Amino acid sequence: MSRIKFYGVRGSIPVCNEGFQKFGGNTSCILLEGPKHTVILDAGTGIRELGKEMAHDQHMGIDRPCYLAFSHFHWDHIQGLPFFLPAYDSRRTFTISAIGREHLGKDLRSIFETQMQAEYFPVSLDAMGAKIIFFQNPASHVSVEKAFVRAIKHNHPGGAYSYRFQDSEGRIVVYCTDIEHGDRIDSNIVELEHDADVLIHEAQYTPEELPHYKGWGHSSWAQAVEVAEKAQVKRLIITHHDPDHDDEFLCDVEKQCQVRFPNVCLAREKMEFVI
Ligand SMILES: [Zn+2]
Ligand SMILES: [Zn+2]
Repeated sequence: MSRIKFYGVRGSIPVCNEGFQKFGGNTSCILLEGPKHTVILDAGTGIRELGKEMAHDQHMGIDRPCYLAFSHFHWDHIQGLPFFLPAYDSRRTFTISAIGREHLGKDLRSIFETQMQAEYFPVSLDAMGAKIIFFQNPASHVSVEKAFVRAIKHNHPGGAYSYRFQDSEGRIVVYCTDIEHGDRIDSNIVELEHDADVLIHEAQYTPEELPHYKGWGHSSWAQAVEVAEKAQVKRLIITHHDPDHDDEFLCDVEKQCQVRFPNVCLAREKMEFVI
């Protein structure tokens, strides 16, 4: 069984306003639970709630290998990490991983050390307590005990990565956020997403808004649907909602998406399902 649970579905910055809570205000964080491994996709503010659940859930126990995979390191994808309770548990080990050639130029550890240096946060990365392993691999794919991960870089300011995860029982989940396709859908992304059981794709904007945000690094819901159609995925989940789009607005977007694609929904915080 593979379980997916959304803890943060908001893009750019958290929102706590009235009228935004049906979908939720926390920034990007998604849990993927495979038969043998746990993968956390991005560490936006949603990871705080995930941490609290992990601390009390036997299935997410200290012996289970846990990987943190980052689409990229913009604030909305890292800002929850200092508040991730299990990282303060010395019995736990986490692997922060980055695969792909372009990542070699970055010192992964220093990104997180800087985030937690004394000017920004009272606890340093080393003082958190859990063992944190930094795994950087120039290959575009890695396999761990029959599970398989492939990553490719896509267009976003500073670059970002899409991931294709195949668990040891063959189920496929693709995560693609903070992507600007531009005038034409990125064919490499379609290929990466081909035949996925679940595609999690961002859509910060509507098709009408998108032309006003050229170079901001995001997609429209119509592009997310187009990618899902082209890649023939079984299910599409749209995430990374704009912080100015309230519940009413997003419900309306969801209806428009459902006219175009049979199995689509907009991600909501705490939404979960088994594939
Ligand atoms: Zn983002
Ligand atoms: Zn970004």
